[in-house]
Amino acid sequence: MELDERLQHIRDRMFAACELANRNPSEVMLLPVSKNHTADSVRELTYHQCRVFGENRVQEAKLKISACPGNIDWHLIGHLQSNKCRDAVRFFNMIQSVDRMSIAEEINKHANNAAKDMPVLIEVNVAGEASKHGFKPEDLIEKLDTINNLPRLEIHGLMTIAPWTSDSEKVRPVFRRLREIKEECEQIIGAPMQHLSMGMSGDFEVAIEEGATIIRIGTAIFGPRPNAKK
Ligand SMILES: *Cc1c(COP(=O)(O)O)cnc(C)c1O
Repeated sequence: MELDERLQHIRDRMFAACELANRNPSEVMLLPVSKNHTADSVRELTYHQCRVFGENRVQEAKLKISACPGNIDWHLIGHLQSNKCRDAVRFFNMIQSVDRMSIAEEINKHANNAAKDMPVLIEVNVAGEASKHGFKPEDLIEKLDTINNLPRLEIHGLMTIAPWTSDSEKVRPVFRRLREIKEECEQIIGAPMQHLSMGMSGDFEVAIEEGATIIRIGTAIFGPRPNAKK
């Protein structure tokens, strides 16, 4: 299958999942994840109404972004080291992977230096996996006010990466829990948050049923990642 056919196939499945969940498809954004794929593939997708892409490494993204059309929005979805913060703030339109207090403060500092407000999502380690980054739910509840008080951070919602499983039904409780945590967060900050970024190639339909507003799709659009680093 060609890139545009795989894209159309994913869009068809998104629409079907929205229909099943009684949701308006315009509420769910498809974020193609172009990590380990070329600027040419990105450009090809822009011919099919893709305008926002996800990357998980700042170094790789920097090179790709400069080789891609300038009207694309880029979301950082991978773990961010503090020495990459300045570039992350400069090159990305949203950072979805705010996974600890120190990085929230560092992003705020660099955003302030750049006189820029930075849209972010807070990453939550819902299932408490040792191998994953992100706030534990109870830590987030405790620290949310402090994060929310960082003047250059605009909190647009939450992100999670579900545990890997071949049975997508098993991740439903994780997605449901993230939605509940978002509601708790909205109580704390006294304002609605727009986004729940959850669901990837293997589990996005379940995520849509549970309220995802951003689904992050790599393999199912681009095919297997060449030289994927585990
Ligand atoms: C790579 C990646 C994705 C996409 O994964 P696929 O299973 O290839 O769709 C989504 N989210 C994050 C954070 C990623 O690193």
